[in-house]
Amino acid sequence: MEDKAYNPFAHAQAQFDKVAGIIGLDEATRDLLREPMREHHILIPVRMDDGATKIFKGFRVMHNDARGPAKGGIRFHPQETADTVRALSMWMTWKCAVVDIPLGGAKGGVICDPHNLSETEQERLCRGWVRQLAKEVGPFIDVPAPDVMTNAKHMLWMLDEFETIHGGKYPGFITGKPVEMGGSLGRTEATGFGTIFVLREALKDLGIKPENATMSIQGFGNVSQYAAKKFMELGGKIVAVCCWDNADKTAYTYYKKDGLDAEMLSGITDTFGCINCQKACAGGCEVLPGDAWIEQDVDILMPAALENQITLANVDKISKQVKVLLEGANGPTAVAADEVIKERGIFLLPDFLANAGGVTCSYFEQVQSNMNYYWEKDEVLERLDTKMTSAYRAVQELARKKDLYMRDAAYVIAINRVAQAVKMRGWV
Ligand code: GLU
Repeated sequence: MEDKAYNPFAHAQAQFDKVAGIIGLDEATRDLLREPMREHHILIPVRMDDGATKIFKGFRVMHNDARGPAKGGIRFHPQETADTVRALSMWMTWKCAVVDIPLGGAKGGVICDPHNLSETEQERLCRGWVRQLAKEVGPFIDVPAPDVMTNAKHMLWMLDEFETIHGGKYPGFITGKPVEMGGSLGRTEATGFGTIFVLREALKDLGIKPENATMSIQGFGNVSQYAAKKFMELGGKIVAVCCWDNADKTAYTYYKKDGLDAEMLSGITDTFGCINCQKACAGGCEVLPGDAWIEQDVDILMPAALENQITLANVDKISKQVKVLLEGANGPTAVAADEVIKERGIFLLPDFLANAGGVTCSYFEQVQSNMNYYWEKDEVLERLDTKMTSAYRAVQELARKKDLYMRDAAYVIAINRVAQAVKMRGWV
């Protein structure tokens, strides 16, 4: 259920304020980092297929670029708000910092439901977004990427528009491009695979064998689909997947006690991550209510849909069996519910660490695009594994040494890195 009182930006700021206090951050740095440095609100007129013109609202928010060009995806979502994009831009800054890649944080969005737009309307919307922002973004300024309900096709339309406006070839302007058009091998899999690389390390620390572990997932977009695939490769079992059904405008949880077939589910999922309910039933899945994903007796819970999904209203439904909370989405756990997770001793893999594989591979893509030389897939995924594993190790070690909650430890590392960058540049 949508929580009208929830404000993602207040959520991101509350997390920041807490850790700024822990590390005793000075006032100027605090004031600089608790808000985005720059934001653009745009109107995008789009000629619809029926000849009418519709005006869409869009955003690009740059939180901080002290560590390098800003980086972050563009979301298409009917409930997009300026505060959501602000929060997400802030989380991107911490994400790039925690995995130690030389990029800042940004995010973009358009208020729309691409389910209701034809291909040509989506293309005009993508080109319109770039037309409004062509001077504010670029390979050495701010580099967009896919996010919720955007994909490689959208990225290429955006690139084409950018190159047309600037009169040259700038493949480093955007990441998540199709592989045959300057994208990186492994980028599609990267976010999902990355979540499982950090999970694998956490399970080692907890003495749990992946082949004995079970998982319940919320969401079945790009992140979940590849996380499910990788988790099953390690021998793990996925017993439940909750997913939005666009035809019925409701969420269902697909359940199978002895393990769902992730490959089969991916085969019946649309490009926006919606599983076809009828086909899922035909494929032998039991259909439970949408919120059933959270109350499963599993070892790992993975919210990988949107922000504010685990709240005080449902956190107590989490089974005693759950040992790990793997945050695939950005901001899935509300601040108050986070306290409960911490109290219960559930091992947390915080969002901006767990889902950093996407932007890490985007960084690799940008490097390859700028060099115009492309790596083999194995090389990309190996480098990704190395980055994710060492980021996890650094956070886990700090958490252990200073007796910190994993989210706070990740924040301490990320905020310190960004604070150091703004100081070294002489901004504060
Ligand atoms: N949208 C992804 C994220 O939230 C990837 C961003 C990127 O690749 O720049 O991390």
